[in-house]
Amino acid sequence: MKKIIDNHCHFEQLTKAEQQRALADYTVVGVASDYQSCLALIDLQQCSEGLFICLGIHPEHFNHYHELPRVIELIEKHQHQLVGIGEIGLPYFSLCKMASDEHKHILQQGLVIFEQFVQLAAKLNLAVNLHCVGESTWQAIAILQRYQIKRALFHWFAGDSKLVHTIYENGWFISVSPQVNHDAVYQHTVKKMPKEILCLESDGPWCYQDMRGEPAMMKNSALQLAQLFECSTNDIIETSQRNGKALWQIS
Ligand SMILES: [Zn+2]
Repeated sequence: MKKIIDNHCHFEQLTKAEQQRALADYTVVGVASDYQSCLALIDLQQCSEGLFICLGIHPEHFNHYHELPRVIELIEKHQHQLVGIGEIGLPYFSLCKMASDEHKHILQQGLVIFEQFVQLAAKLNLAVNLHCVGESTWQAIAILQRYQIKRALFHWFAGDSKLVHTIYENGWFISVSPQVNHDAVYQHTVKKMPKEILCLESDGPWCYQDMRGEPAMMKNSALQLAQLFECSTNDIIETSQRNGKALWQIS
C-alpha cells in the first residue's frame, strides 16, 4: 500500500485525472454522500487498486435521508468490499438556517438514521467515518458507546478538549484536513489534540482557498503538523499510517 493514507475523501467526486493522481501516490478511503455516490464508489473500488470505501448518507444531505433502506441494502450486499460506513453522523451546518421546529425535526431524523447506521456497523464489524460538529457530538458519542463501536474516525474534527478527550479515551481517531495549512484557529485546536490519535485526510474535492482538495494536499498538512507538534514529518506520516491501518483494518 502507498504510505500516506487519505482517510476521508469524496473520491467519486474527483475528476478522472484527479483520481489517477490520487491513487498513483496515496492510499485513499472514499466516503459516500448518498445512494448514487455509493453506487459510483462500488464501481470505482472494483477497478482501482489502493481505493478502500465506506458507504453511507452524508448527515447534512437530509434530502437524501429517504434513501436509507436502499443504502442499507447496498452495505449488506457489498459488506466484504467495504472498510466502513460513512460519511455518517449528525446534521449541523444545514440546521443553522432553519426555524427551530424544522431544526428539531431534521436533527431527530438524523439521530434515527445515524443510530441505524451505527447498529449496522456493529453488526457487520465495520468502522465508521464520522461527520460530527458542535454539541450534538455528545449525542453521537452516546450512540457509538451504546453499540460498542471500537473503530471510529471523527473527520475534520474541531470540537472542544472535553470531546477530544472522550474520543481519545474510547480509542477512536481524528483526521486533520488541509484547512490546517492556513487557518490559525484550527491550528490552535489541533495543537491541543493528542498527536497519537491523529490521521490525515483531504476531504477532496472540498475547496481550500479556492483550490480543489486533493490527497496531495496532505503533504503540506504533514509539514504543518510536524511544526505544530515539534516532531518530524515522517513521525506524522507514520502515526497517520498506523492509525489508518488500525482503523480500516488494511495492510
Ligand atoms: Zn466529507
